[in-house]
Amino acid sequence: MAALSGHTIERMEFRKTTRRYPRAVGWNAQRGPHGKDQDVHACRIFTDQGASGWGFCGASEEAPRRLIGRKLPDLFSAETGADFEARCLDIALHDLAGRILGQPVWRMLGARAGNRIPIYSGAIYFDDLNPQGEAPGVERLIENCRQDAAAGHAHFKLKIGRGAKYMERAAGDARDIEVTRLVREHFPNAKILVDGNDGYDPAGACRYLDAVADCNLYWIEEIFAETEDGLRVLREAIRAKSPATLIAEGESRHGRMQDPAGPLGKWEESHVDELIALGAKKLIDVLLMDIGAMGFTAWRSVMPKVQAAGAQGSPHAWSEPFKTYYAAQLGCGLGSVPIVEGVFGTVDGVDASGYTVKDGMLTLPDAPGFGMTLH
Ligand SMILES: [Mg+2]
Repeated sequence: MAALSGHTIERMEFRKTTRRYPRAVGWNAQRGPHGKDQDVHACRIFTDQGASGWGFCGASEEAPRRLIGRKLPDLFSAETGADFEARCLDIALHDLAGRILGQPVWRMLGARAGNRIPIYSGAIYFDDLNPQGEAPGVERLIENCRQDAAAGHAHFKLKIGRGAKYMERAAGDARDIEVTRLVREHFPNAKILVDGNDGYDPAGACRYLDAVADCNLYWIEEIFAETEDGLRVLREAIRAKSPATLIAEGESRHGRMQDPAGPLGKWEESHVDELIALGAKKLIDVLLMDIGAMGFTAWRSVMPKVQAAGAQGSPHAWSEPFKTYYAAQLGCGLGSVPIVEGVFGTVDGVDASGYTVKDGMLTLPDAPGFGMTLH
């Protein structure tokens, strides 16, 4: 790209700041509580031509600093993203390139889905439970849905799998059904997504699906640790009981950690190939690899294969609001992202007001790069 070619990375600034949720987030089938505030790190890059861009990144300054003095086109291409050696600045380099080119990232990626994308609230956990004290009950969970609806959400992802760890199996399974039905009753037009965090087995998943078949679930995410045989059982049950429901998989690496990070970040390439192959067999509809841990550039490289398999993607975005925005930029740019995971909250010193949520749709800013300001 001619416009990027005259720039050399001249210096960097690193910042530690704090992400804050509007309410504390509790438990899912595997772990909790997920808390309220968290340290996060950002890096701003400056070029010798006076351009700058920034992004959230890891805590280490060592790897990014090694890129000072390098020519921008040797590290980044608008067509393919960050070179492997520059992945530590994947987000900041996309922001920088967008600012130099005068384009929002979603447009730089192709604007295949415009600048608006459906979003769900990803912050409804086991809000009826408190394994460390008095249980607030299901009314609290509905209150939290209402709080998110007041913030512009229309769709909700419910954590299920209470019977895996935090309740007796039968009582937990019954509560999952009760909560699903209750949210459907209170929000008749909502897309309801459910996420088991692998807290069921295939037979239990089928029993759950049978009990909520009339709730018109939008998707079922990681209800058990995926196997081809298990997914075939689930697909059959969906065909019979709830044919519009999507199967979403691929957030969990099941201990298969790529370390050090490879071309697909912390995902083994063979694992992603297997997930895409399951997509081609119509056993997974939506792939969920994390926008941060797999990476923005990695998702750009994987999405064409996902599309060729006839599947879709929705990069996992918990636990940071900015990950929602990055996933949405990717989805609007490349298409094939039916809905993004909404993570609520703010980050001290960051103005993300260009992103707005209304009636279950996230609208992206027209501003260059990711359209967020770091003060
Ligand atoms: Mg999940």
